[in-house]
Parts: sequence; structure tokens; C-alpha cells
Amino acid sequence: MDPAAERLALGLAELERRDLRRARRVVESPQGSRVRVNGRVLVNFSSNDYLGLASDPRLADAAQSAIEEYGVGAGASALVSGHLRIHERAEERFAWFCGLPRALLFGSGYLANLGILAALADRDAHIFSDSLNHACLIDGARLSRAQVTVYPHADVDALAEGLAASKAPVRIVATDAVFSMDGDIAPVPQLLELCERHDAWLVIDDAHGVGVLGAGGRGTLEHFGVRSPRIVYMATLGKALGGYGAFVAGEARVVEWLMQRARTYIYSTALPPMAAAVAMRALELLDEDPSLLANLHRRIGELRSALVRGGFRGTHTQTAIQPAILGPAARAVEVSTRLAERGMLVPAIRPPTVPEGTSRLRISLCGAHRPEEIEALAQALHEHLAA
Ligand SMILES: *Cc1c(COP(=O)(O)O)cnc(C)c1O
Repeated sequence: MDPAAERLALGLAELERRDLRRARRVVESPQGSRVRVNGRVLVNFSSNDYLGLASDPRLADAAQSAIEEYGVGAGASALVSGHLRIHERAEERFAWFCGLPRALLFGSGYLANLGILAALADRDAHIFSDSLNHACLIDGARLSRAQVTVYPHADVDALAEGLAASKAPVRIVATDAVFSMDGDIAPVPQLLELCERHDAWLVIDDAHGVGVLGAGGRGTLEHFGVRSPRIVYMATLGKALGGYGAFVAGEARVVEWLMQRARTYIYSTALPPMAAAVAMRALELLDEDPSLLANLHRRIGELRSALVRGGFRGTHTQTAIQPAILGPAARAVEVSTRLAERGMLVPAIRPPTVPEGTSRLRISLCGAHRPEEIEALAQALHEHLAA
């Protein structure tokens, strides 16, 4: 083997040795509360399809109509000729949906966060980032070349000290709204208050809050009842909303700046028109069919009370993400394998996705789960975690 390939082989062997080498499951059915893997149907506690919309025929119809009207591809980036009428309409709908003046569509949440941070911050800026933020906020901060301070998870006092000491002309606080591996909710009102006091932007990533939190499923801003010209709000379309893509919303001038300067917006092909149509239909369904959201919150309540009844101690969150932290990667993999044998797909999440020593099961709930499936999961967790 030549030295370049040898290096990769060693790297892969090292991942293997540390129980960190990943393999993909091939899913043989649509995404949903049950999926077929290797010919076996498993109850799926591993997807971000929290409302069961990914395979909802009403969204498939919306995609088909959009294909008939607009074809399958946007064909160019938005600033060249890829911004179709359906994208324009979707942006208006998103702005209205989250109660902010203007919205901009991005190819994905990952692209949106890279674009936001690199466009708002330059070398002279100072970004304050929660220690449990998603990889794309971390990468966006790096890409901007700004000074970055990672503050301890949700620690408002530490953040206040950092902001007070910062002399940078541009300050940005960046946070997941719902933390993707823990399911807890960021203290948004307190963060906003600090941003107002210190003239900072508040960049909020609501990938796991949109379609889940708030009485109408409008996300973390609705949950807390906050709006502010300082908020730069990012929500993804590929999780609870069932499709693909993302939007950023905020004050008209911020959104205009992103349109002019966010490189991941400017230099990337606009979303397929059907993705815009699917997302708009998903927003309508949240209003038309309140059972979507109500069922999810019922399932969350059932799992929480079953875990409490079983004496299981862990963090019980208000969101669709319920972690069971086990520590060593091998232990998380072991329990996940046992659950799969019992017909339940619950992923083991290991470093580098979570900090060393905090490998866990990440249980994600879906409104389409049945109450007895939740009960069976709680029972199995109780047996395997007590052992
Ligand atoms: C999934 C996720 C993203 C990325 O969104 P995509 O649209 O999948 O690229 C961003 N932030 C958080 C917190 C996420 O969980």
C-alpha cells in the first residue's frame, strides 16, 4: 500500500478498535414509526421525522403537483435564475409562520448555519457558542475566522461575563434551540436579554423545535413567546416537517445581508421546487390537522411517565428527543443491539457526536408511534439498563 492509503487504513482500524466505526443500515421501507431493515420490521425510535410526515401521502401529493408545474430541478443558484415563484411563495409563508419579517430558503440546515455565521461575522467579530451546539454552528464559526468562545452548556452567567468583557465590534451568540443529542431547550429569553444588553445577534438553530414546540408547532420562538430584531432564526425542513431544506428568518435587513453575502446561499443550487412545495404543505397540515402535534406530545408524555414508573433515572425532556446516557461507547452499542433484537431501533450515539464518556441511546419519538410501542420500549430499557 502507498503511504497515503496506508494512513487511511490505519485511521479506519483505529476507529474500529475504539468502537467508533459506523456502518449504515439499509432501510427497505419509507421512513416512519416502523421501518423494514434486513427484511425485519422494527419500531423506529431513531428518526427526526417527529410527526410522521416524511411518508405522508398529503406531502407526496404536494410534491407531485409541484413536479408537474415546475419540473424536478431549480437548475441554477437563486441569484442567477433558480429562484422560482414557488420559492418566493415559500419564503413568504415561512416568514409569516414564524412571525418574523422576512425569510430566505437554504439548501439544508448545515448550509444555512455555515452561511449565517460566515456572513455575519468576520475576523474582528466574536462568536459565543454553546458547548453542545450542533457541528454546523461549530463549523460556521470556524469558517468565519472570528474569535470563538465556547461557553458551558446553557450557562447564562458565563455567557454574560464573556459578553461584558468582549470589545469586538460584532458579537454573536449562537445556540441550538433544542439540543440535538440531549433534547433540552436553550434558555432563549435569557440569551435574548443578554444579546439586547450587549448589542449582539442571537442565532437560533431550531432544527428540533420547529414542528414540535409551541401550541401551533411553530417552534421555540412560539414556545417562549419571544420575537426580536436581534434574532436570526434558522429552521430545517427535513425533520418534523418531513421534507428537505432549511430557511432563515429575521429582520428584513439581516435577511437581505444574508442573500447578498452568505456564500452557501450564493454558490449553491436553489432547492428543488418540490421541496419548497412539501414544506409549505407541511406548515398547512400543522394548522389543518392538530392531531399531528397532539399525538407527538401524547407519546412524549407516555414515555416520560413510563420511565418514571419504572424508576429509570435520566433526563426527561419536553421534546421528541429523550436521551439515556450510558457512558462507554461499547455499552451504548451493546444495549442498542439488544433492543434491535427485540424489534426496536434505538441508535447508540458515540463520540465525536457526543463528548467522550457520554455515549448514549438517543430515543426519538414520533406522533405515529402507538402507545403500546412506547410501553414496550420503556419495559425493555428498564430490563437492559438494570442488568
Ligand atoms: C440536523 C441538524 C442540522 C442540519 O440540518 P440539515 O437540514 O439536515 O442539514 C442543523 N442543526 C441541528 C441542531 C440539527 O440537528
